[in-house]
Amino acid sequence: MPAADKPAAIRAVVGGAVQGVGFRDATVRRARDLGLTGWVRNDDDGSVRVHAEGEPAALTELEDFLRDGPSHARVERVDVEKVRAEGHEQFATRGVAAGVFVVQEHQATAHHFDLRLEVDGVMRSWAVPKGPSLDPAAKRLAVQVEDHDLAHNDFEGGLGNGGVIIWDRGTYEQGGRVPWPEALDRGHAVFVLHGEKLRGGFALQRTRPGAKPQWLLIKRRDDEARPGSDLVAERPESVVSGRTLDELLG
Ligand code: MN
Repeated sequence: MPAADKPAAIRAVVGGAVQGVGFRDATVRRARDLGLTGWVRNDDDGSVRVHAEGEPAALTELEDFLRDGPSHARVERVDVEKVRAEGHEQFATRGVAAGVFVVQEHQATAHHFDLRLEVDGVMRSWAVPKGPSLDPAAKRLAVQVEDHDLAHNDFEGGLGNGGVIIWDRGTYEQGGRVPWPEALDRGHAVFVLHGEKLRGGFALQRTRPGAKPQWLLIKRRDDEARPGSDLVAERPESVVSGRTLDELLG
């Protein structure tokens, strides 16, 4: 398309008394009213960060909104920079837990780790033979398996001729440019884990559809990435009991 029609994009950092005053929700409403896409999140330093893309005139209006904020906010500064449009399909709040996740190490006929993410009241599940990694270069095969009940998340113990330990668990945020669960349906889902062992951004990329779809589980490059590490070897224990799977089976 011609350059003039290309969506523009901005990143804004809003400083002041801007958290805990409904700033994110108000920004989402305003941005959606303006037909913009992107995200808003509360940052650890107390600021609110915004990525917005769309019509330049609408971006200018959003900037004006950010300088005032909702009624209980006290905005002290807004730093805006022009950035590249990323192709977001919604305007969403980031940094809010979407539900729980669990990784269960499972000795069955074959040894594997079950990654489960809460989506719409069920645990979407993938069997990861080598287990998750914090090394962005380690692309781990993840075979999609049947959804599980949330009640199974707490299970640790003997199962058949094998057993299960709760290798990691916590909450997660849905991310990416496409809303969930559509992101999973399309075969590319980005998320942020807040576990005891697994932290930071991850991606699930479907590589082969079909009856047992195959995906790759990949650590994204961020502050939590640990190139060259082998987390499964370093931290074999259950986060609930401290036992390893070998100890449980022994
Ligand atoms: Mn399993």
